[in-house]
Amino acid sequence: MGHYCRICSRYRPNESFSGRGHRIHVCKKCSGLPRGVRFRIESLDEIWGFLDQSIISEKNIRRLSLLAESADPEVREMASIVHAIGKAHPGRRRRYKKIRADHPELWQRIVKKGIVEEWTGPAERDYAFDASEEMTDENAPSRDGCN
Ligand SMILES: [Zn+2]
Repeated sequence: MGHYCRICSRYRPNESFSGRGHRIHVCKKCSGLPRGVRFRIESLDEIWGFLDQSIISEKNIRRLSLLAESADPEVREMASIVHAIGKAHPGRRRRYKKIRADHPELWQRIVKKGIVEEWTGPAERDYAFDASEEMTDENAPSRDGCN
């Protein structure tokens, strides 16, 4: 069994890791990447991770302000959008529905960046959003009775 490399997001055999690489979960090939490339991959990873959390905390917001000042334009842009998302609607639940309604400018940035696909509002789309964000045992479709 190998190890997971957090830069190329792949499982690679043990031989692909040096001693230090093992500890920090970065394979030999990715260790050779220029510092800026690694910074970009790791930062974008971290920023996307904030969106997956059930809430974007104050601490995350401070971290995002910092990343929004970084030298990398891609990291800067993404950090600034997620920073705005965290300010507008820290909780993940119903986040995009609320932002679309209450912060149209931010919503446009989100769509333009490809964070969320634009939708114009049919009920099924709203339902799809709720289903993916709030699926619990309680509102999951009942298993008995189907086929
Ligand atoms: Zn790698």
